[in-house]
Amino acid sequence: MSRRFIKYRTSDGFVLGEGFKNRGVIREVQEGISSRTLGVLSTDIFSKKILVVGVGSVGSYIAEQLVRSGVGAMIIMDPDVVEYANLSRTVYMAYDVGKSKVNRLAKRLKRINPGLEVECWRRDIQTCSSEELVGIFSKCDVIVATTDDPQAQRVINRFAYGLGKPAVFVGLYEGAEGGEVIISIPGETPCYQCATSVRHEMEQTTGEVGVKTDYGTGKLEGVVALGVDIQHVASASVKIILSLLVPSESNVKLKGFLAPAIEKGFSYLTFSMKDQYWFYPYIFEGTPGQYAYQSVWLSPLRNEECVVCGKIEQDIDSLMMTPVKMPTLANIRKAVD
Ligand SMILES: [Zn+2]
Repeated sequence: MSRRFIKYRTSDGFVLGEGFKNRGVIREVQEGISSRTLGVLSTDIFSKKILVVGVGSVGSYIAEQLVRSGVGAMIIMDPDVVEYANLSRTVYMAYDVGKSKVNRLAKRLKRINPGLEVECWRRDIQTCSSEELVGIFSKCDVIVATTDDPQAQRVINRFAYGLGKPAVFVGLYEGAEGGEVIISIPGETPCYQCATSVRHEMEQTTGEVGVKTDYGTGKLEGVVALGVDIQHVASASVKIILSLLVPSESNVKLKGFLAPAIEKGFSYLTFSMKDQYWFYPYIFEGTPGQYAYQSVWLSPLRNEECVVCGKIEQDIDSLMMTPVKMPTLANIRKAVD
């Protein structure tokens, strides 16, 4: 088994990497990974590329699980460096502290699967130009939004929906006592923005659960919460992401996992990690066998005037508060061609 340095791209132009270049090893790794998912996941998962924006407690865990499930290529984006506080609930090590999260995560992922293609963007998504985002999003099969910033999540929503890419938004509520996974499939579900506005309305009648920011999901960084509670929600999102990667012609077990939910309009999965949480008592009252660990799917409605997924074409982008401009049609066509 030969171990050498191998090159891969980062947005900083760095050449990173230490891994196995030997093709035999790479094949053995792939065979090993697929031997444990045979018949559940399609083997063409090795040709899939995922974008993960935000690689903190949720995103780093999801990225690692996706690679261990066989995803063959990833783009990871995060401007932050690893801090000691991150060690309690991320995949980072003590010697990663002070270093770029994306660079350290890329190294770790390459060590799991040396054949993994990984591209690092040490950037806040809101500093990226439309052209950069169109270029990145267009290359990916599924977009995973795990930033702790609702504004960044909205930017991801616009570009993913605009480019026809399925996206999964994962968020934790106050103290990780609850959490959510929002699935956005262009043409099939309302977008993230429509979904979160429904929750916002629910919070007004049944109490707030989100960290107090304008859209609720808020910053998890610095919040006291158990890593296992965060991973409970993140794990569910990994299965959802994997099911979105199964090709329509395949007949593996995970195919169609989401279809019945989406047909019923369920695109918003919520979790509780404690008894009597939020609106859950209204639903489960009188149902035997209920305690902590419950989940409820919500069916958000599309706002027909939504600038992202609504039917009305608008000249005014109501999200102009974000520095990133909406991609123009010409840009999208250029990137897709
Ligand atoms: Zn919408």
